[in-house]
Formats: sequence, structure tokens, C-alpha cells
Amino acid sequence: MKNDLLQELKRFEDDADQCMKCGFCSFVCPIYQEERIESSVARGKNELIKAVLAGELEFNSELTDRLYKCVACGACTESCPTQAHIPRLIVAARADIARTEGIKFPYGFIYRHLLPNRGLFGNLLKVSSFIQSTFMPKSNGAIRHLPNFMSGLSHGRQIPSIAHKFLRRQVPVVNKPAQGIKPELRIGYFPGCMNEYVTPHLGIRTIEFLTRRKVEVVMPSVQGCCGAPVFLGGGDFETGRKLADTNVAAFEKFDYVIADCATCSCAFKEYPRFLADTPERKEAYTHFAGKIRHISQFITDVLEIPASSYQTVAAVKGKKLTWHDPCHLNRHLGITQQPRKILQSIDEAQYVEMPDAGRCCGMAGQFNLLYYDLSQKIAEKKIDSIDSTDADIVVTSCPGCEFQLLDNLTRLDRPQKVMSLMEVLE
Ligand code: SF4
Ligand code: SF4
Repeated sequence: MKNDLLQELKRFEDDADQCMKCGFCSFVCPIYQEERIESSVARGKNELIKAVLAGELEFNSELTDRLYKCVACGACTESCPTQAHIPRLIVAARADIARTEGIKFPYGFIYRHLLPNRGLFGNLLKVSSFIQSTFMPKSNGAIRHLPNFMSGLSHGRQIPSIAHKFLRRQVPVVNKPAQGIKPELRIGYFPGCMNEYVTPHLGIRTIEFLTRRKVEVVMPSVQGCCGAPVFLGGGDFETGRKLADTNVAAFEKFDYVIADCATCSCAFKEYPRFLADTPERKEAYTHFAGKIRHISQFITDVLEIPASSYQTVAAVKGKKLTWHDPCHLNRHLGITQQPRKILQSIDEAQYVEMPDAGRCCGMAGQFNLLYYDLSQKIAEKKIDSIDSTDADIVVTSCPGCEFQLLDNLTRLDRPQKVMSLMEVLE
């Protein structure tokens, strides 16, 4: 294959040479654990990519399928003696495939035309929400099917419904502490698509939690999608750059940019690595990435809220809580202790550590849509871990993980509740 068709893979070529074929990654790869075939695991995927780089293999639908069958959990790199970063190579390969082969409908349409256009996306969701609430059956009052224009993607899975009133219609751009209280810090808040369109009550919780702690929270109106599904999942770097440029400009004036979604936080940190195609973008994206803090990091490491001052909602008092590590938070950003510190500080609830808390839940965005059966099997191992803790509530901080846990706990008729970290705190 011509080298100019492998523009992105060429940039990460050195990562392909790190693998010494020991096979340690096969013990931790959730895909390999289910499929038991060599092309499922990092070592096998690396060999396929090396064959492409050597001109021995062309991109084709089978190879694309193998490269999309990865949840980007990073467990392979973590367990690898040489720290070979095969997941990065996979993202680069997806980018070369997207550029040279195109992106399948409806994903290409969603990436290029809906996610970058907040007005159009929001209006479509509003229409869908109306149709959904008027004509579609409710399953249990809280969970419904995907909006109708995306119903082809749902395959009958159950996820929370679109909010009737989006977050930015419920809160102002500038959110100040109560009258008479001078703000000690001013931050930019990135609620992400989920808090904006699906769970605005969680965005409000984050804003209220911070304003009560003397933080002025600004939610710039021009911000866009973080781009994770677009450039990390779908390899559409061109649209990813448009989204990155929008977000960098939106938060230019802030020293801290706070996100309560693990995936959004991770995507922002990855802008320089994957999307910086000019020295100007490299500088701007690196500066922006340096300002990003996940909410758990911000409240423990920056605000340094003392353990004694955490208050909780009534729903968790007297309950047993456990924490699920989103892959984007623990392996990609190294944030493991901050959320645990917060949960362990809650006097009125009991914290219990889940075995294998960092094991992927099987969501991984587009992966869940493309390989729902496999995603469910991966989730079942997570549900076994949750069961073993005897916890009442699983807490996490990634809407994707929350939906996956909710979908599978419901499907398997389990009683445990799923809550977002900021939903637990007052
Ligand atoms: S653990 Fe690392 S070095 Fe060993 S086979 Fe997997 S990717 Fe290669
Ligand atoms: S990132 Fe996760 S799913 Fe992908 S190859 Fe590595 S261990 Fe397997």
C-alpha cells in the first residue's frame, strides 16, 4: 500500500516495533478473553498493522472489522513488559482507513454533519424526544429506546431517554456562588453531550456542587462535542480537528477546564497526540490539554476539599457503594485514587472495593453499537464483580459506562443501582 495512504500509521510506526510477542496481553484483553483468536489481541492486531505498513496487506472489510474490535481499554499496554502502545496504532489505522476508504453510514453522517453542528443535533434530538415521549412505549419510566432517527443503531438495547429540556436551557452561561459570596476561582465547565442532552440534572449537580464551594462556573455556549467518538472511535481526524478548534477557542480564557466525563477528559488530553497537524495546533492543543481536570481530580487535588465536608444525597445514606473505574479515567489518565478518596470520605455510606474494578465494562462507544453481543459478554464479567461486593450502588464517572452498566444490570435483572460520582454528592 502506498505510504501516503498510511499517513497516520507512519507517525506511530515506532509503536509497532515495541512488541516482542510475549503474549502477556492475552491474559488481560477483554476481546481475546471472549474470542480466543490471535487477531483479537494486541499482539495479533500489531502483526496485522505491521503487514499493512510493510505493504503485504491492504485495508479491507475483514481487517477493518478486526481493528474496530477493540475497546481501547489500554489493559494490553498496562500489562506489556515494553509498554507497547498498540491501542494508539489502532486509532491511527482507523484514521487511515477512514481517510482512504470512507466511514460507513450512519456513522460518517453523525460524525461529519451532526456532532459538529450543535444546533442541528439539538433540534433533531428535540424532535426525536417529542416523538419518543408521545408514541413510543416506556419500559420502566426511566429507560427507553434510542431516539427514532438513530433507531437503526439501537438493536433493542435500552438506554436513558433524551431530556425534555437541555442543560443550557436550564442554567445560565455564568454560574456564580450565592449572593454575597465572592468567588475564589473561575473555571470553564464542559458538560459533554450526555449532560447536555440526556442527563442535564447531572450537569446541574456539578455546577451547584462547585458554586457552593465558591467556584464561579462558566459554561461557554459555543463549545462542541469532545470528539472522542469521532476521532478516537471512528478515525475521522478531519472532523476531530474542527471540534478541537471549537473547544480550544471556547475555553481560551480559563486556567482550568473541568469535565465530569472520563471519556471527554481523555479525548481533550489526546488532541495534541492525534490531531495536531501544524505547529500552531500542537501549541494550542497542548496548552488546552494542560488545563483539563476531571471533576474528581479538581475537587481533591485543586480545591482540596477536606474529607469531613463531603455531604451526600439521601439515596446513598446507609448503603454500600462500590466504584467502577472507567478505562479512560484509570489507564488513560492515571486517575484512580481521587474518586475512591471521595467515596471513602462519605461517613453515611460504606465503601467496598470491587475485584478487578478496572476491568472494562465493554461499552467503548461505537464498539457497543457494532458488536453488541460481544459487549454484553464483556459486561457480564463486570456484573459478576459487582455481585461479589454485595454493593447496593455502583458509582462511576463516565456516561458510557453508566449506560452500559444500567443496560446490563436491567437485562440480567439485578437490583443494583448505577450512579454518577456527582450524583452521590451534595
Ligand atoms: S504484552 Fe506487549 S510485548 Fe507482549 S505480546 Fe502483548 S503487545 Fe507484544
Ligand atoms: S486496548 Fe483493550 S481491547 Fe484493545 S487490544 Fe488492548 S487489551 Fe485488547
